[in-house]
Amino acid sequence: MNTYARFPVTLVKGQGSTVWDDAGNAYLDFISGIAVNTLGHGHPAMVAALADQAATMLHCSNLFHIPKQQQLAEKLVSLSGLGSAFFCNSGAEANEAAIKLARKFFYDQNSSRRTIITATQSFHGRLLSTLTATGQDKVKIGFDPLPPGFVHVPLNDIEALKQAVTSQTAAILLEPLQGEGGVNVAEATYLQAVRQLCDEHGILLMLDEVQTGIGRTGSMFAFEQAGITPDILTLAKGLGGGVPIGAMLASDEVAASFGPGTHGSTFGGNPLSCSAALAVLDVIASESLLDNVKARGEQLWQGLHELKQRFPVIQDVRGQGLLVGAGLSIEAGPVVTAARGEGLMILLAGPKVLRFLPALNVSEEEVNEALALLASVMEGFA
Ligand SMILES: *Cc1c(COP(=O)(O)O)cnc(C)c1O
Repeated sequence: MNTYARFPVTLVKGQGSTVWDDAGNAYLDFISGIAVNTLGHGHPAMVAALADQAATMLHCSNLFHIPKQQQLAEKLVSLSGLGSAFFCNSGAEANEAAIKLARKFFYDQNSSRRTIITATQSFHGRLLSTLTATGQDKVKIGFDPLPPGFVHVPLNDIEALKQAVTSQTAAILLEPLQGEGGVNVAEATYLQAVRQLCDEHGILLMLDEVQTGIGRTGSMFAFEQAGITPDILTLAKGLGGGVPIGAMLASDEVAASFGPGTHGSTFGGNPLSCSAALAVLDVIASESLLDNVKARGEQLWQGLHELKQRFPVIQDVRGQGLLVGAGLSIEAGPVVTAARGEGLMILLAGPKVLRFLPALNVSEEEVNEALALLASVMEGFA
């Protein structure tokens, strides 16, 4: 169905941070399949893990114990400090699982708390629950009746959040850095105050790290940079490096509300997708990719600031690590199109924001090349 306004390009091949179209044109890939191709394209460890798992067993269902799923759960638990993991197939499914778990947690305590507070400009997915959680009207139009129990407040406004909390509030769901909604950073002091507010009222803090998780911001999870831990964490995009997988992690106390029959997914956490995620986590560690994200992120940030001096249509540069946005005074769509014409793939985050999402193993030369290409593109918009 015609659900996507696609670029007029057919991509047929990728290697590292380069992709090729069906006419043989090469592009520098600063989209990474929307923050998915964590290790770029064709990483040998990824290829080997997938080939090996495909030859051994692709799928067996959650009727059985799955060693790779167990290993992945243990890794994610130890990296996050949370207690256990539920696996699904996408970011929206991970958030749906989080919403269900939060409600069930209070139901189990004979509490009537069911409401979830989220931020305006947030993005949590396209399921009925998650588009209702999303703080943008454009994803909701035409899909009513929407499920009740969602309230929205502006990001980084702790007073507005305090006002919104009632005796019916079950959870606060936030992205530590809003990706789709414009590359808007939740301030560390705000996240700390939200954590404190949750603790004071017995409310669950749920962080949607579907876009920011798995190293994208320079730490394994963005919440680490604020020095807090959520009660529930959702992951997807970069977790499988291109193979669909989502995860919802929770503290042991909260996770205890999901028993047999409360939630499930036929494909969730199958051997293939878990092998992909294990390969991603192994390579992030073995190739010290968090260090690379920090270094390349600073380089990109620095370069964009220099471009901002030269081209006043660039109004500000924001983000963390390799999730970087440039706010423009003009429509960003034509800039994205012109960049593609020069061989640089970048995307939008709202109508006037350019978004840069290179692979975590992008090289210094590739970042320099992207900046040089962007500089020549911006000449046309000066
Ligand atoms: C992309 C995204 C989602 C939705 O993920 P899907 O895999 O498309 O369902 C949810 N939350 C955030 C923060 C995202 O960036």
